Amino acid sequence: MLGSSSNLSGDDGDNRRDDGGCDKDQPRNTEEYRISARKFVDMAKKNGGNSDMIALLLRHNLDVMHIEKNICESIIGTLLHVKGKSKDGLKSRKDLKDMCIRNELHPQERGNNVNYLPPAPHMLSKTEKQIFCKRLANLKLPDGYSSNISNCISLEECKIVGLKSHDCHVLLHQLLSVALRGLLPKGPRNAIFRLCAFYNEVCQRVIDRNRLEQHEEDVIETMCMFERFFPPSFFDIMVHLTIHIGREARLGGPVQYRWMYPFERENGNDDVTLKILFCGVCHSDLHYLKNEWGITMFPLVPGHEIVGIVTKIGSNVEKFKVGDRVGVGVVVSSCKTCENCQQDLENYCRKAILTYNSIDHDGTKTYGGYSDLVVVDQRYVLRFPDNLPSDSGAPLLCAGITVYSPMKYYGMTEPGKHLGVAGLGGLGHVAVKLGKAFRLKVTVISSSPHKEAEAINRLGADSFLVTRDPAQMKAALGTMDYIIDTVSAVHPLAPLLGLLKLNGKLVTVGLPDRPLELPIFPLVLGRKLVGGSDIGGMKETQEMLDFCAKHNITADIELIKMDDINKAFERLAKSDVRYRFVIDVGNSLSKGPMTSPRISGIASLTEFTKRGFSRQTNLILPPAKQNLGYEYSSGVWQFEGYGYVPHGTSGVCIMQVFGANPPHATTLMLRVYNGSLMYYRGPVLVPNIYDKWFHLNVIHDVGAAKVKVFIDGYLLLQVDGRGGTTHSFKCGVYAQNNDSYCMESRWKDIKVLRKCD
Ligand SMILES: [Zn+2]
Ligand SMILES: [Zn+2]
Ligand SMILES: [Zn+2]
Repeated sequence: MLGSSSNLSGDDGDNRRDDGGCDKDQPRNTEEYRISARKFVDMAKKNGGNSDMIALLLRHNLDVMHIEKNICESIIGTLLHVKGKSKDGLKSRKDLKDMCIRNELHPQERGNNVNYLPPAPHMLSKTEKQIFCKRLANLKLPDGYSSNISNCISLEECKIVGLKSHDCHVLLHQLLSVALRGLLPKGPRNAIFRLCAFYNEVCQRVIDRNRLEQHEEDVIETMCMFERFFPPSFFDIMVHLTIHIGREARLGGPVQYRWMYPFERENGNDDVTLKILFCGVCHSDLHYLKNEWGITMFPLVPGHEIVGIVTKIGSNVEKFKVGDRVGVGVVVSSCKTCENCQQDLENYCRKAILTYNSIDHDGTKTYGGYSDLVVVDQRYVLRFPDNLPSDSGAPLLCAGITVYSPMKYYGMTEPGKHLGVAGLGGLGHVAVKLGKAFRLKVTVISSSPHKEAEAINRLGADSFLVTRDPAQMKAALGTMDYIIDTVSAVHPLAPLLGLLKLNGKLVTVGLPDRPLELPIFPLVLGRKLVGGSDIGGMKETQEMLDFCAKHNITADIELIKMDDINKAFERLAKSDVRYRFVIDVGNSLSKGPMTSPRISGIASLTEFTKRGFSRQTNLILPPAKQNLGYEYSSGVWQFEGYGYVPHGTSGVCIMQVFGANPPHATTLMLRVYNGSLMYYRGPVLVPNIYDKWFHLNVIHDVGAAKVKVFIDGYLLLQVDGRGGTTHSFKCGVYAQNNDSYCMESRWKDIKVLRKCD
């Protein structure tokens, strides 16, 4: 029954068996494993020419953190033999019997329906369990390294429950190896150590390509080792995905860029950490979620109207103390040295870092307020005045300052003057209240007559003007001193300009996605002014909060729970909200110990993020150099490769040159709409691109700011660059607008080349 190789653990002096059982074909030693692993890789490479397996790049976008959580829980559950968590049990032992392997582990009937399950090499003994749990419980870790893991450990029951994703991440990378030292037979222990080392290596910020290939081979061998010691049911889909991670890293760059779980940085000397209580739902959150501006980097945690309580301050922070009520708006950092920053106009700094979907100074991504905490440089944190409510005050941080700043800057505050507010939504309704506080005559200009009563009775407007009523519009010609235009849909400006008196001012703060027509005659003949404005600097935002507190101005809100966010977004898309949703983050986000890695709102955003995430197989290409995540900022660079877009994929960007001066994010986008390959939304480069391989060359001369696109050797496009400091090529599929359900592009033989100097 047992072969001579039955006990490789030998010196462990233990009755648990390390070995497989009766399957004689099973590889027995490391060298054989290595050969089988090599064979697999060679086979895959050989098939490369015609097999999808190699020709298609990055199809799945594996979420490594998620995989780590599953594997870590499976390992711990199995080691501790926790009921319901262990992959071992009567059923899995019966599997072994059916498969005719590992006879020594088969269940033994002891009469009365009692089955005895012999101890297996993957089980810790009772003493070992206690040692293992005690070691984990007593580990002293730096602040913010993980949540308090010891809270999850029950020493009496030898159970570990309630681990968070990030806990599993650090367990797998570091702690498990420490806690298991000297426990378990050597075989299963080594298998676990090897797997831990693999995940540790593959999650590094920089990956060495040569070593990665070795890891890809080694991990197959590691999985074979697991197969010898762990029950067959251990090998679920999550464990299996380990095999594919190396290849994804080879194609897509370091896996951390594709994590679904956002992190927050440690509180630095100038930082303030706040526990988030409320967060407003701004229309831009929806634009980002749907990637309507084409610049969303998933995963995304939106929210830039944040009110919270200070829980930690850095050593240089004097403005705030723990327990203070504070706010964070749209901007969380900037260069602090440019002309704009020195004039307290951080919002116009070219290096301004936005509260979410931006890259912070340390290279990490920023995440917004739909989460439990945020760490922000004190300069960008605002004092929340005592009498300003946290919930209805939150929207002032974006909506409030967006209308307050232009009113101040353009001098639209002279008492007695007449202000028109075009559009009665989140921005407009605050503009009405501010106008009244500045003692202006306020008229709401709207296309929906049914909003009249509310505008006048609830918000305090003096009158209401229906744009679709020609008689009303005619009567109002030349009656207004100022107009704030908050409409973000494309709309004509001429009627609004007509409402202005001589020297009248029209300021637009909505952001229509296409240019508006600007009639010059009324401007010239009436000495009128058209201007724009974007939120406000920190000093002015503070001034606005203080002003609102003094005049009892808040937003009219609908308070929602975190779990209702998807419903709220649906309603927001139909402008069905009076006038701002605010999330009661503090009371409705799933609770847990305050930890540095966030419990994010992502759980309740599953529908959106999943849709966005799985379809944004956005690819960072392997570079010529060792470091996979390359970027360039000078020189002449070329992307070369073969692409293929199957029939049915539409409304999608398939290749881009990333990086440009704001408001643009990209220097080039090649998109496919209904079978045509286009430069952005036009012109058409190739009328029928579906179902055939095409050869693409994109040459980007950064210095000369020129981009050339060749398809099948023909120069089809030559356009100017769009600025930007760093660039990279990306291909794959990236949903744009009117995107189809089917989303696919295939790529092969991709090269990124740099012209020699
Ligand atoms: Zn697979
Ligand atoms: Zn906003
Ligand atoms: Zn600046």
